[in-house]
Amino acid sequence: MTDTPKDLTDHLKARILANGPLTIADYMSECLLHPTLGYYTTRDPLGASGDFTTAPEISQMFGELIGLCLAQTWLDHGAPAPFALTELGPGRGTLMADILRATASVPGFHAAARIHLIEASDTLRTAQAEALDGHKIDWHYQLSTLPEIPLLLVANEFFDALPIRQFLRDEGNAWRERRVGLVDGKLAFGAGDPAEVPALSGRLAETKQGQLIEICAAAEAIASEIGAHISDHGGAALIIDYGDWASYGDTFQAVKSHKKTSPLTTPGQADLTAHVDFAALANAVQGAASCAATAMIPQGVFLERLGITHRAQQLAQALSGAALENHIAAHRRLTHPDEMGNLFKILALYDGRFSPPPGLQT
Ligand code: SAH
Repeated sequence: MTDTPKDLTDHLKARILANGPLTIADYMSECLLHPTLGYYTTRDPLGASGDFTTAPEISQMFGELIGLCLAQTWLDHGAPAPFALTELGPGRGTLMADILRATASVPGFHAAARIHLIEASDTLRTAQAEALDGHKIDWHYQLSTLPEIPLLLVANEFFDALPIRQFLRDEGNAWRERRVGLVDGKLAFGAGDPAEVPALSGRLAETKQGQLIEICAAAEAIASEIGAHISDHGGAALIIDYGDWASYGDTFQAVKSHKKTSPLTTPGQADLTAHVDFAALANAVQGAASCAATAMIPQGVFLERLGITHRAQQLAQALSGAALENHIAAHRRLTHPDEMGNLFKILALYDGRFSPPPGLQT
């Protein structure tokens, strides 16, 4: 194994030969964020010519409504100034650009906003700088370097990229961890020896032998940090992603050129994700004195409550032909239960001394 490997598959095989099979989390981290060969570090994966398309890339309406939701939350929380307008994993910067355009006319909002982006990829940092030209931006690798001021945060399709571990329920109270090893010289899934895992004792009652569960320590740690920041300094966070309340079964997947592929065939060349366990995120803020979690609701319901159909009709008036067709399709894609409307969910973490963000009140 050399310090600067040329090929990610060779590097992974060398690691496995040297230290044994990798946890799914180690495999995911290497594939997505290896400093020179990782998926996110070497490319802009978004859009029609890339591997996948996200809500802000589908239509400007998504970012506009998120922007108005954040601005109303800011007003409801007493219009603190300054505050950290923060995004986790901002991709091409499209969502933040739409948020800023939609909130330009909210008196005092831009003057109070300090823009902070948490982004691991230098390639995507460059794209973000271009999309947000004219705005002062601070980039971070983690939340801990954010200034100690109120936080208004958004994370769209960020948590699904964080490394998960998978455990198969075995006999009794034991679990076997799913790993990536080598079979006949090729990367292959396998499972470790059965062992009791204290961190999973809470999942024993709800699982049976043969069932698989996933845990994402990084997601829980980040949610807990957001909770502590909100508890200490105020604010709110909107978390949007695919997933559900608790996680059951294998949701580890790879997508390349808009098609599903095996997570093991093209390491570093395909997007790797897992469904987000929203219950784990909500539970992670329980220790934060004044940070509350809303109920999780489907993206389609959230966007309808924020008035997406009205906004779609407004924008449609200036459109005709193919542009109008595309616009109608984008509205459907974001909201319809057969498209992203139901698969994607939203949960907010917020300063419980104030009301929850609009669209998330129960
Ligand atoms: N939010 C964007 C992009 C989603 S893709 C959108 O909706 O279009 C995931 C983003 O998270 C990318 O910008 C990726 O580089 C970033 N990312 C993934 N893992 C990260 C990590 N551990 N730390 C910081 N950024 C990360």
